Amino acid sequence: MIEPRSHVAVLFALAAAAASAGCAGPSAAQPGAAGLASTGRDAPAKRRVVVISIDGLRPELYLDPAAHGVSLPALTGLARRGVHARGVRGVVPTVTYPSHTTMVTGMRPAGHGIVTNYRFDESGRFINWYWEAEAISATTLWQSARAAGATTAALSWPVTVGADIDHNLPEFPLRGRTYPEYLPQTASPALAAAIAADVTLPDITRSDDYERYLFDVAALVVRRWRPELLLLHVFNTDSKQHGHGRDADEVRAAFEQVDQRVGAFLQVLATQGLSDETLIVITGDHGFVDVHSVVHLNAALVRAGLIELDDYAEVVGWRAMAWPSGGSVALMLRDQADAGTRLLLEQTVDQLLAGQLAGAARKISAAELAERGGMPGAEFALFFNEGYNTGKNLTGPTVERLDGIRGAHGHDPGLARMRTGFLMAGPGVRAGAVIDELPMVDIAPTIAAWAGWRLQGVEGWARSELFVDTAARLHNSPSMDSAGRAGSASTFSR
Ligand SMILES: [Zn+2]
Repeated sequence: MIEPRSHVAVLFALAAAAASAGCAGPSAAQPGAAGLASTGRDAPAKRRVVVISIDGLRPELYLDPAAHGVSLPALTGLARRGVHARGVRGVVPTVTYPSHTTMVTGMRPAGHGIVTNYRFDESGRFINWYWEAEAISATTLWQSARAAGATTAALSWPVTVGADIDHNLPEFPLRGRTYPEYLPQTASPALAAAIAADVTLPDITRSDDYERYLFDVAALVVRRWRPELLLLHVFNTDSKQHGHGRDADEVRAAFEQVDQRVGAFLQVLATQGLSDETLIVITGDHGFVDVHSVVHLNAALVRAGLIELDDYAEVVGWRAMAWPSGGSVALMLRDQADAGTRLLLEQTVDQLLAGQLAGAARKISAAELAERGGMPGAEFALFFNEGYNTGKNLTGPTVERLDGIRGAHGHDPGLARMRTGFLMAGPGVRAGAVIDELPMVDIAPTIAAWAGWRLQGVEGWARSELFVDTAARLHNSPSMDSAGRAGSASTFSR
């Protein structure tokens, strides 16, 4: 079993339970909206931002589509009209929820609190994802936008259940409900009603049809509410790469399909007369590597006596446990003062690295994790090499050889293949500019600076060099000082 499972599987396969409702979002909205310093001759009447996250977007596909057997006219058109990155350097771990939260906060996972996809789980099952926005400990773009009086919308954006977003369709599991039951219990009331009236509901067994649905809803939201911030997360490209590996026909078809949908959505903006006032940001959360094996570290920790199971293979006690994140894993101690267990854990993992896992992974110290802003609280981590993913089995072999190639992520963000993409176009964006490697933490402060929203004290930088001079003067907002720097980055190694 490849982990993490596709989003559709995660969304819709979990056990029945009532919808979570009424969670308060983080109360970190900042006072003093920046306002739009519209003093220049080219100032758009309004400033709107659309962020489309294409899960698992790989930059080489738009850098050289022909070499990869794809045609991506919408993305390459945006690259010509605006800015593109040769790659975006992600965060630790390179998985979906921490990465998306970095994109909207400008903070690394240790700073925004969404440290991996799912919460630590003493049962060893790791199925409880970070659905609720109240788990985010940093200021988000939607909060900064709303503080400036903007209307906000988010569709399938991770970690938004209960978020303070005007029109919200959060990513959340179906939990035994039909989609018509789920929709009004999960989405904002007015949005749920509008969708039920106007949009063909998705075939939830097909991630490509769910993507069709999300773009239909995005078009509806633009026509109905014209929000100043729209966040859209689509993930058919992630599902297909997990299932087939990086370079399958299904993957090429999925990227061509999402490109067509992006193109059609840009047409909706144009038809609505919004193109001249909208910043379009296309990004992704991580790259992909091909994998042939899955490493179930907790099965090895059970054999070492560090995790105790009952006759039904349920965890009844543990002293050390692996907290998997796809291509990386955090090693946790129950009692950090337990030196004996720490030693046994180190010995167990070192033996594996010298034997069964030779050449498969490398150890990352707690100090290096702190430096890289990921996996807080871990004793140490393992970053797996290409070819390997981690799994959650508590019994059976430590290393499971797959019957074919699959795709995975969560590996070291320094790997070239873990980089994701970034394209940005709109009023004031420098046409044809290229960034070699954009740190993911720079995305949120750059958007906030363009829009004139306050997003202060973040780890990323507002990249003012991506905007033409006129526009830079136009949005001389407090969130971007003269150096284009959005906040303290002194501890951030870029
Ligand atoms: Zn993802």
